[in-house]
This record gives sequence, structure tokens and C-alpha cells, in this order.
Amino acid sequence: MNPVTYRRPSSIADAVAAAGSDGWRLLGGGTNLVDLMRKGVESPAGLLDVTGLLPDTVTPTADGGLVIGAAARNSAIAAHPLVRRDFPMLSRAILAGASAQIRNMATAGGNLMQRTRCAYFADAAGSRCNKREPGSGCDAIGGFNRYHSIFGASPECIASHPSDMAVALAALDARIFVTGANGDRTIPIREFYRLPGDRPDSETVLSPDEVIMSIALPPSPFAATSAYRKVRDRASYAFALVSVAAAVEIRDGTVHDVRIALGGVAPRPWRAHLAEDALRGARPTDEAIAAAIDAELAHATPLPGNAFKVELVRRTVSAVLAELRGEIA
Ligand SMILES: Cc1cc2nc3c(=O)[nH]c(=O)nc-3n(C[C@H](O)[C@H](O)[C@H](O)COP(=O)(O)OP(=O)(O)OC[C@H]3O[C@@H](n4cnc5c(N)ncnc54)[C@H](O)[C@@H]3O)c2cc1C
Ligand code: SF4
Repeated sequence: MNPVTYRRPSSIADAVAAAGSDGWRLLGGGTNLVDLMRKGVESPAGLLDVTGLLPDTVTPTADGGLVIGAAARNSAIAAHPLVRRDFPMLSRAILAGASAQIRNMATAGGNLMQRTRCAYFADAAGSRCNKREPGSGCDAIGGFNRYHSIFGASPECIASHPSDMAVALAALDARIFVTGANGDRTIPIREFYRLPGDRPDSETVLSPDEVIMSIALPPSPFAATSAYRKVRDRASYAFALVSVAAAVEIRDGTVHDVRIALGGVAPRPWRAHLAEDALRGARPTDEAIAAAIDAELAHATPLPGNAFKVELVRRTVSAVLAELRGEIA
């Protein structure tokens, strides 16, 4: 690893000014960025440790929502009593990710901004990767693509998004507060991540000078009855092959509202809007659930190495919705 300058900026304004200058990067818990520096994938000119400047609390809002500070550690968010009571899918999603030691270091902001786990992306010495080096090619297409996307990919990049937390945040319609050289803005999570298109190196709508300050969860009448299920190659310490964050509100025997977000299947947390639309207003029978999932999967574009994910999504969503239907009945 090359020598790197480490700084603790004295204010957010200082951090924003320095982050906008060439090659400086924000540092949260360092569990992803420092790892990629060791592998030679990232080589920042300097690191700006912003953890002391950002909120690290989980705060209830008057309307029943929550605000999570960007420096809150993943373990603290997952263990927070209000997260566990009112947004259990978020707690379960975080606990399904990484190890206890990593969750103790990882911050909310860093989790949202972590890079893909595509093995070719991480192999700076030997593999072609359009995300790491635009225009160089993609060794995953035609290579080992078991973990890659079945939705939203492009001929330039088929990597999937790695965060479990972000999948739950997508189902919960979280909003992300950022500050930067041009002031403050709030970004709905559905607009936060870019699909790869012909620029897979550009993953979010954040500019380099923007800092994530906090994440807001709007109040939800049904998030208290929600679930997160992650299917992976081993019981712990593995990224998702497929994951599902879901919540259902049933009134008078029909689905009044439903949220379904998928992980491990797309370059961003994949909100299954087509499945949700098919279920709203329907009775939550096995047949209706199966038809709703099929409406979403009709748009999947699997590769030979990950075609099994189509059936895995079908079964995992069915199981999670059946579990929630059982809890509500
Ligand atoms: C062995 C291992 C297994 C893992 N397994 C899982 C898993 O199963 N599921 C899962 O979801 N994750 C998993 N992770 C990833 C882990 O969750 C991330 O590494 C972690 O969440 C990143 O948080 P961090 O604070 O350490 O980020 P950092 O490494 O500090 O930063 C990551 C990126 O975020 C940027 N950044 C940090 N803070 C901000 C901010 N406030 N505003 C804007 N940009 C910011 C940094 O510049 C950097 O680009 C695993 C990691 C490891 C090492
Ligand atoms: S799938 Fe994307 S991240 Fe992986 S090698 Fe191809 S371009 Fe790189």
C-alpha cells in the first residue's frame, strides 16, 4: 500500500472543500476503502476522516420516523430499540451483513457508498474492469458471474450492489441528506444509485465534494411487520446471492400496501415495483403472490452463471411474503 495522508478536518465546510480537491476521499470506518487501497483498486491522495464531524445517533422524529446519523456504526443502528421495534427489516438486514467486528467499525454513510464485490473489480493486477478502468472491458461477462446482476445491468458492467442495509432502506423509501459545495440537498434513495449504462464507474448521484450527513426513514404504518431474508453460499460472513426486504399491510383481507426490495440481483438495491403493483388490491393468496413475482421476473436478463437466481428470487420472495401474511393473519 502506498503512503497516504490522513486528516481530520476541523469542520464540515473544511471537509467539503478538501473532498472537492483532486484525489482526496472521505473516510468512514475504513472497512471498504482501506481494503481496496491495500488491493491497489483505490489510491486516494489523502483521507479525510469525517466520523467526528457527522451525527452518530438514531433520533426519532415527531411523526414516527427516524433520522440516522451518517457516522452511526452499523452495530449501533441494528441494536437500537426503535429500529428493532419499528423497522425490524433494517435491523435484520444490517445483522445479515459482514461480521460483528466489521459492523462495529462500519458507518451508515460508508455502508451506502461501499463498492461492488465483483472479484474482477478487486483484481487490479490481472482483470479487465470497466468500473475500475473505463473502456478496458469486463471480464465478468463471459466469466464467473454467479454473484452478478439479473436486473439493470448493461453491456459494460453486470456487477451487483453489495449492501444489505441499502436494500432495507430502499423498501423503506429512505431519504439521504447530503451537504456539498453547492449547499444541502435531500435525495430519495430510489434516485441515489445510478444504473451502470455506459458509465459503470459512476455509481451514485453524489459529487466528490458531497458528504452524506444522515438518512431519514419516514414513518410507515406497516414497517413494524417487516422481514429481511438473505440467501448466501454459507451461513455467515458472505454477500447475498439473493436477499429480500419486504413489508405488507393487509386490510379486510386484501393487500392495502406492500414493499419489496431485492438485493444481490442488480447494480443497485432493486425495488420490485412491478410485483408491488400486481399485489396491491389483491387477496394475498399463493397464486397472487406467484403472479406478482413473475411480473417482476419477466424483465430479468440472467446469464448462464446466475440464471439460478430467477428461481431463487421466486422462492425467496414467496417465502417472505407468506411469512408476513402469516404474522398478520
Ligand atoms: C469481510 C467483509 C465482509 C462484508 N460483508 C458484508 C455483507 O455481507 N453485507 C454488507 O452489506 N456489507 C458487507 N461488508 C461491507 C461493509 O458493510 C462495508 O465495508 C462497510 O459498510 C463500509 O462502511 P465504512 O464506514 O467502513 O466505509 P469506508 O470504507 O470508510 O468508506 C466506504 C466508501 O464510502 C465513502 N464514505 C464514507 N463515509 C461517507 C460519507 N459520510 N459521505 C459520503 N461518502 C462517504 C468513502 O469515501 C468510501 O468511498 C463486508 C465487508 C468486509 C470487509
Ligand atoms: S461486472 Fe462491472 S465491476 Fe465486474 S469486471 Fe465487469 S465492469 Fe468490472
